[in-house]
Amino acid sequence: MSILVQNIVKKYGEQIAVDDISFSLPEKKIIGFLGPNGAGKSTTMKMLNGFLTPDEGTIFVAGISVNTYPLQAQKKIGYLPEHNPLYVDFYISEYLEIIANIHGVRQAKKKIEEVMHQVGLTPERNKKINQLSKGYRQRVGIASVLLHDPEVLILDEPTSGLDPNQVAEIRGLLKQLSSTKTILFSTHILQEAESLCQELIIINKGKILAHNSLQAIQREYSSAVIIAQFQKEVQREDFQLIEKKCSKITKKNSAWHIETQHKDEIKKAIIQLAHQGQWGLESIFDEQNSLEHIFSNLTTSASA
Ligand code: ADP
Repeated sequence: MSILVQNIVKKYGEQIAVDDISFSLPEKKIIGFLGPNGAGKSTTMKMLNGFLTPDEGTIFVAGISVNTYPLQAQKKIGYLPEHNPLYVDFYISEYLEIIANIHGVRQAKKKIEEVMHQVGLTPERNKKINQLSKGYRQRVGIASVLLHDPEVLILDEPTSGLDPNQVAEIRGLLKQLSSTKTILFSTHILQEAESLCQELIIINKGKILAHNSLQAIQREYSSAVIIAQFQKEVQREDFQLIEKKCSKITKKNSAWHIETQHKDEIKKAIIQLAHQGQWGLESIFDEQNSLEHIFSNLTTSASA
């Protein structure tokens, strides 16, 4: 287990930002931390790194208690905040030297070369940070958290503000880094989570709503929309027999949209209802809901 979080709570005055959450993360995996703005992602990440102290609960990183030994735990973590402050007037290597000194990295020059190569900064090596594109600045940020060779990377929205090519490059880099490190990164971009993560944690209003592999979350929460059209004018009440197993039954233009987690059973039932009531079934098909839909269902129903 690279991270173990037990019942952590964090309040800002009266505001509960993180509300009694627990999770554990396996080694050498990419885990997406998903949630709308204000869900508690940054606060949790700051507590994992020891920047903020939880009001309650305990955190272990690589077996070290962050509560009791924050400095030792920080040696195991590379934390990149959302707005990573870079000293833009420095050359890349100068900046990395400063960070390496802070961490007391041995053979710093060699390590800096190695890390610059690892994140693809070598071609830009003679530039000052303010001459770099946003994507390359983000690579400098990632390089800076790799210098002390942490086991766990905690990255707060690492692709935010980047253009699609830069996003693809950073995603490629994260994939490559995950062969040796556990990476927890926050995002509100669902495609990113879909393409990169082996596990997802979905958080809203300080509480974890789901934590599992993408496939398991899709299996557990997936629903389908059955779209059916009839010749006869059918009313909402005509679906009474199936409504218990449906989350939504609405009419859009001339078609009925029936949302359910029991697709096959409900489809059969609709065909039967149509036959018995002589509704004149014209067409019936279904569409699987995307992760986006699941996410929106989870995060909006929890706030209702
Ligand atoms: P996220 O990273 O998911 O957007 P945050 O952890 O930043 O969420 O915020 C969680 C909640 O805590 C939000 O309601 C936010 O307004 C509040 N919050 C965050 N930081 C502070 C702070 N320094 N003081 C007061 N409230 C804060």
